Amino acid sequence: MADNLIVKDAALARVANLSDYDATRATFSWDSARAQIDGLSGGRLNIAHEAIDRHVATGHGDQIALRWIAKSGDRTDLTYADLQKQTNRFANVLISSGIGRGDKVYALLGRVPELYVAALGTLKAGAVFCPLFSAFGPEPIQSRMEIGGANAVITSGRLYKRKLKALREHLPELREVFLTDGQHDSTHDLAELMAQASDSFETVAMNPEDPALLHFTSGTTGKPKGVSHVHEAVLAHHVTGRFALDLKPGDVFWCTADPGWVTGTSYGVVAPLTNRTTMIVDEAEFDVTRWYDTLAREAVNVWYTAPTAIRMLMKAGSDAARVHEYPALRFMASVGEPLNAKAVIWGRDTFGMPFHDNWWQTETGGIMIANFASMDVKPGAMGKPLPGIEAGIVDVTGDSLREVTEPMTIGELALRPGWPSMMRGYLHEEERYQKCFRDGWYLSGDLAMCDADGYYWFVGRSKDLIKSSGHLIGPFEVESALMEHEAVAEVGVIGVPDDTAGEIVKAYIALKPGFEPDEDLRLELLGHARKRLGPAVAPREIAFRQNLPKTRSGKIMRRLLKARELGLPEGDISTLESDEA
Ligand code: ATP
Ligand code: MG
Repeated sequence: MADNLIVKDAALARVANLSDYDATRATFSWDSARAQIDGLSGGRLNIAHEAIDRHVATGHGDQIALRWIAKSGDRTDLTYADLQKQTNRFANVLISSGIGRGDKVYALLGRVPELYVAALGTLKAGAVFCPLFSAFGPEPIQSRMEIGGANAVITSGRLYKRKLKALREHLPELREVFLTDGQHDSTHDLAELMAQASDSFETVAMNPEDPALLHFTSGTTGKPKGVSHVHEAVLAHHVTGRFALDLKPGDVFWCTADPGWVTGTSYGVVAPLTNRTTMIVDEAEFDVTRWYDTLAREAVNVWYTAPTAIRMLMKAGSDAARVHEYPALRFMASVGEPLNAKAVIWGRDTFGMPFHDNWWQTETGGIMIANFASMDVKPGAMGKPLPGIEAGIVDVTGDSLREVTEPMTIGELALRPGWPSMMRGYLHEEERYQKCFRDGWYLSGDLAMCDADGYYWFVGRSKDLIKSSGHLIGPFEVESALMEHEAVAEVGVIGVPDDTAGEIVKAYIALKPGFEPDEDLRLELLGHARKRLGPAVAPREIAFRQNLPKTRSGKIMRRLLKARELGLPEGDISTLESDEA
């Protein structure tokens, strides 16, 4: 964490028009940000208007809005004008099926153009959009549709037959099912209805507080919560896209997240379109060669991805990246999990610019803390609060909440409520929602520290904090130290109960190709960690695994490692993706 680790972004010189962080913060207000969106008459607005219609109205209809790369590698382009027509058709289909303002429209689709058309067409019609991961099994689908009260769903025939058909009798509120590829009993053929529908539609003018998007949290710490966001959130999506991702009109932007995770909607649909970029959508799953090909061939300017993907790229080695050059690439950002310092530096060494970490949650709806393009990057730090965002470190262990002002002191990361994309509630969990707020702060549930320069450093989830012989140990610190070792591909750290120490630190490690999980390596890793962290903080135990249990949004599920270690029930594993012992 020494200051000499500061990386001056080499690409910065090319980013001339970004004003200085402090100056922007000083002059920014959410009221002034309103001038950056178009709005509709009478103080009303609609996310889809800002994303599409305004650009067509200002003469940008011919710009490519969405470049879709099918699994086969075939590319399909939708211009802003195409997207306008298609979303208009979709909105007309909904309205003529009796689905409108306030109804809940779900999508159970892979990353195909219909998903994006459905998202924005739903918003145009004044209905609420909720994307689900297409890989979800029937149980997570049913529970999420019940919690949100789904009234309509867009899916494919294959997904319908395999996952949805049998659920329909349990979902009385589900009135309409639209299939993207044909028609089965009591469903509609979407393509046919779209072809019949008019391609003009007057986007429904919404009140800023009308619900727009429904998202479920990742389920990393427990049962996923349903989170509701409103149309006004578009303000935050738009400006944070500029501030934290450096989006500019005309950029080619690739957000690798699926819309089933909030990142894939806030920054995989809304922010790129309101900022009039060309967004890349890849239908396929992660693949090292394909990703580098895509970055190079599509001349991606801004790339937004996640630590798990970066770790997999690192595992494959820099040479895999060096097959191409990336002259168009200007800015790389990461979200979802702590980004190890090593990954930031690897980014700089491999691409000539660091990965810019940023922090936010499903609840916050948009990026809160980030490494701006115009800021020095301290590898391992999440960055600083964005303009319009006031963050703090608070101590909630006493009777009254206390703001922690001493630099580098662990406390809960808290935010002053009031930004537009903040959740307006957890569905059916009012008490839990209220508990997030105390003495004028929103409590994130994450632990962090703030240094004397105002940079925030992630420590761990409060639930994952380890208490060992009087020390408070954040898993991230231990994981980062282990990641420095050449053999380590990924690592998850938990506390295991211990009679004398209270808890001891245990690390689960997946190795890079070419390394054997033997006793010698185990001892070497234990020694490496002791040297880096000291005996009080270093792990006492190491277990090797093929990979670590992760959510579909790519987060290591430490609670699952812990439950298994303790022989406890696994709890909700509806979002579990990879998991090989
Ligand atoms: P659940 O709330 O259901 O347990 P989740 O918290 O993982 O799941 P998300 O809202 O998708 O669901 O993730 C937000 C969390 O991800 C943050 O609270 C934080 O713990 C973690 N996170 C996101 N970005 C970062 C980051 N840059 N550094 C460290 N942690 C991050
Ligand atoms: Mg959470």
